[in-house]
Amino acid sequence: MALIVQKYGGTSMGSPERIREVAKRIAHYHAQGHQLVVVPSAMSGETNRLIGLAKELNPDPHGRELDVIAATGEQVSVGLLALALQTLGLKAKSYTGWQVKILTDSAFTKARILSIDDANIRRDLAEGCVVVVAGFQGIDANGNITTLGRGGSDTTGVAIAAALGADECQIFTDVDGVYTTDPRVVPEARKLTSITFEEMFELASQGSKVLQIRSVEFAGKYKVKLRVLSSFTNFDSDDTGTLITYEEEDNMEQPIISGIAFNRDEAKLTVTGVPDRPGIAFAILGPIAEANIDVDVIIQNTSFDGITDFSFTVHRNDYNKALALLNEKVKPAVNAKGVTGDNKIAKVSLVGIGMRSHAGVAAKMFECLAKENVNIQMISTSEIKTSVVVDEKYMELAVRALHQVFELDKLPS
Ligand code: ASP
Ligand code: MG
Repeated sequence: MALIVQKYGGTSMGSPERIREVAKRIAHYHAQGHQLVVVPSAMSGETNRLIGLAKELNPDPHGRELDVIAATGEQVSVGLLALALQTLGLKAKSYTGWQVKILTDSAFTKARILSIDDANIRRDLAEGCVVVVAGFQGIDANGNITTLGRGGSDTTGVAIAAALGADECQIFTDVDGVYTTDPRVVPEARKLTSITFEEMFELASQGSKVLQIRSVEFAGKYKVKLRVLSSFTNFDSDDTGTLITYEEEDNMEQPIISGIAFNRDEAKLTVTGVPDRPGIAFAILGPIAEANIDVDVIIQNTSFDGITDFSFTVHRNDYNKALALLNEKVKPAVNAKGVTGDNKIAKVSLVGIGMRSHAGVAAKMFECLAKENVNIQMISTSEIKTSVVVDEKYMELAVRALHQVFELDKLPS
């Protein structure tokens, strides 16, 4: 008997028929003797609909009220799912985040979980109940309803698994696992049977949308065994999805590259002709940080005659704001020659812990892109990742070519 936390995403909860299917799947696991805590998302499209309603009445809604509204999607889901389970003859009990209680900070619309009171859950489990807990929501110290950011039910699932010391946290979704890259871009993409937290974190933060990034961070930190599975397969299918786990030191078959992530949501800004002296990077990026704009890749050229160029990337949504800041504030302050920008760029990243012990990955990547005539605009690397910024129109070509060159369609030998 194991204690399992199962999270079901919006598509899995999309209609009464789908909810009935989810209930049957849960009953199947329950019949095997497992203790189950289930965390559903809102029915697909529901959170968007709720936020849309709020914005119809106020284009810039206050986060506190927005959370009151957005959290109702999951409240409906837990009630419906508990009813569906009871109809199958199971004992089931639904809880909102505040009934549990899932205590968060007060950062409305993007709150962080601080603690989870597991007393109710443990008592119900001991009584043979399936416990159904609303994802995405919590309550702050002042009794305000909070939500955890879009996709936050993943984090609720992982956090509950951590609090209970569950044997596994299973994320049921509409894909059957984590792939070497997006199969819509590369049809030969292969499903990974396992991947490390660190790799998954890089893939998720580089634009692979299977899991909310915070849930991966949480799982890594609290050592929660995390598995991504499809809720559309047969209950007794032997498909084990993708297990996200620790690095095994004796795993000789670890591939060098695990996957390729890409991200179209980037934009590049360059401040040209700035003096190369202490304080310049701060003078340029200080105002950007003050405006709460996140910066990703940064490069500064070596100077020529004491003059250099400085480039960085931001999320495409922040492009106009950043460009205006650079022109109005930064340019006069650092006495720059000019400011240019490009919001039609994309980032492509190779990810793999095998890179730590293998030289030459970057060179092979650049060779591949050279052969395809793809110009690399920026490069950034970490221990387990090499990223390039390219023109958006070459992104898919780059991903396909790299997938082939690194033979990601083949099982590692
Ligand atoms: N319902 C929320 C959203 O759509 C949370 C989730 O689905 O994980 O973002
Ligand atoms: Mg999701």
